[in-house]
Amino acid sequence: MNIVDLRSDTVTKPTPEMREAMAHAEVGDDVYGEDPNVNLLQEAAADKMGKAAGLFVPSGTMGNLIAVLVHCQRGDEAIMGDKGHTFSFEAGGISALGGVFPHTLQNQADGTLKLEDILGAIRPDDIHHPVSKLVILENTQNRCGGVVLSKEYTDEVGKLAHGHAMQLHVDGARIFNAAVAIKTSAKDLVHAADSVTFCLSKGLCAPVGSVLCGSREFIDKARRIRKMLGGGMRQAGILAAAGLVALDSMIDRLAEDHQHASDLANALAKMKGIHFEMGMPQTNMVFPSLGPDVKYTAAELAKKLSVEGVKVSAVAERRLRLVTHAWVDDAAVEQTLKAFEKVLA
Ligand SMILES: *Cc1c(COP(=O)(O)O)cnc(C)c1O
Repeated sequence: MNIVDLRSDTVTKPTPEMREAMAHAEVGDDVYGEDPNVNLLQEAAADKMGKAAGLFVPSGTMGNLIAVLVHCQRGDEAIMGDKGHTFSFEAGGISALGGVFPHTLQNQADGTLKLEDILGAIRPDDIHHPVSKLVILENTQNRCGGVVLSKEYTDEVGKLAHGHAMQLHVDGARIFNAAVAIKTSAKDLVHAADSVTFCLSKGLCAPVGSVLCGSREFIDKARRIRKMLGGGMRQAGILAAAGLVALDSMIDRLAEDHQHASDLANALAKMKGIHFEMGMPQTNMVFPSLGPDVKYTAAELAKKLSVEGVKVSAVAERRLRLVTHAWVDDAAVEQTLKAFEKVLA
């Protein structure tokens, strides 16, 4: 049976073109700054983000952690969404390793933090308080449905942060999905950000890695912290070569993933017992909710679907998450819908 893996876009494997580039990649010691492919990748990434410099990091989690550690000292405060990856899925690293205090605000259904909430969270200059140093936004916002934050909104948050001597970091793990979905450039979306991370290893299909981008001064500090965290890699050009292919050839095709997500949602919405309380997909994430007439929990349904060769995630008692990616084609969409029809019958 063909397996359709919709648990995440992280399950994507390197393309044949990436394997080829990796096999022939010229390499050097990147801790000495001598790996040609790492250097090329960092330049290409910085260029795409409209920033002065980039730093190749092993994961998005490390990229976000490094950004927070550059922007904040121990005891400083970072303002972020309560549904954000940094708050939810990074093992509390900013506190455990950086002594940084997270101040969470409610993520709205559209993925934003209310400007008035951010303003209200910024501390006055008073020795009783931690010092507010950083605002973190996530684009696309995963737990709100893979929703897109607009350039206008991000610019507003940047203006607010900078007006209070604070910085803005964008966790842009899927920033290219956001850019493709609203037909703009990633550069525009992160124009107001002092730093941004994006993942090569999700929809872009590279095997490993993210790039952290920002000013030259920011990246110089980030490089030292990456070393401190044990993230200085040696002949990392093997990985960077795949990242270069990802940036060259895998961005525009994300539109296909969005189309497949939309196809899945439109067909699922017609099935009895399925509804979309979080809205229809804007990018590559589909969040079907199970109504009262579905006799299974999300976890039980996920198990039944896996017997039909379709892997999905149960993200709440009565909600599933399906993520489309380059390995999910029209036939996979069809197999998924057939599996749903069978298990819901
Ligand atoms: C995947 C992801 C990250 C980083 O993930 P890694 O698995 O550490 O590379 C960060 N933020 C968001 C929103 C993500 O989806």
